[in-house]
Amino acid sequence: MSQLEFCIHYPFTSVAKAALEQSGIAISDRIVELALQRIKTALKEGKVAKSSALHDSEKIENIASYAAARMILGFSRNRFLINAYAVAESKRASDYLDGESDEIIDKVAGEFNIKTEEKNGNLLIPVHIYLKYSPRDVHYRLSNRELANGYVKLKSRHEKIRLIEGAIKKHMEKIPLVKSPPESIKIAAEKLKEFLPKIQRQEISFSLASGEVPPCIEKLLDSLKKHENLPHQARWYLAVYLIGRGMPMEEIVSLYSNLPDYNEKITRYQLDHAKKKGYAVPACATILTWGLCCADCKIGSPLNWQKLGKADRESLLKTGRRI
Ligand code: SF4
Repeated sequence: MSQLEFCIHYPFTSVAKAALEQSGIAISDRIVELALQRIKTALKEGKVAKSSALHDSEKIENIASYAAARMILGFSRNRFLINAYAVAESKRASDYLDGESDEIIDKVAGEFNIKTEEKNGNLLIPVHIYLKYSPRDVHYRLSNRELANGYVKLKSRHEKIRLIEGAIKKHMEKIPLVKSPPESIKIAAEKLKEFLPKIQRQEISFSLASGEVPPCIEKLLDSLKKHENLPHQARWYLAVYLIGRGMPMEEIVSLYSNLPDYNEKITRYQLDHAKKKGYAVPACATILTWGLCCADCKIGSPLNWQKLGKADRESLLKTGRRI
């Protein structure tokens, strides 16, 4: 793989940054337009398109479009757009990594100080790195992992790539604020407003006012409000809970539109499916095993939250314990 190819695949690396500086390319209207397309594809498809650039000049433009995209998002300061873009760029890089040699994977991993070791045929990673970048998914919970001398045993090469994907996403979420960009960047940021969620949580339903739902649901709703990604089980649990509470489907769809990888068609399909099947809200013990319980309510089921007194509810939401 040539250095330029590497930079196109992984435009967030220090090598790509250096290549861009060396090229002397300026942020022109064309680059801003390419950047806007890059972000729009990310928002529509949930993944940034892979490059089809053939000539070196196109390849440099592609890398520059990444830099310009960050400027647009840095100026927009919109958490939803930034988080959605972070997910899409990290998925693109992950797709590339799936087909790369170990050498390239380690080179990208090195950008985030992710170092793995092979011992007796096992792939090991330091616990603190694992905790920093592993997905919020029950499969990756530390309690489901083999530990030895401060290292976690990875089950496959793919898991290593998922951790790198997590590191890329975190890096993308930390876009620096851009205060006075060129006019074309400001116009592009304005054009992205059509992608913002139409309805904010506080406009949706009185029944979701603070204190009306248990701490675990409150936490998931807060994550949605901040446009954070939610793992599959968390989405499913929240949907089943809200359906169980009788929330209209349109309002649930509006809430889910805050997710950075929101896709209306898939969301509606999954919600309709959950409603048709009439799934029961899981017991607290099950939610605990999924890593989604965050308080000691002692109510057996989240649906019993309404039976608690006001003082207990307030205490649980504040401290995680009953008074
Ligand atoms: S105890 Fe039950 S209701 Fe309370 S936070 Fe945990 S799962 Fe939610």
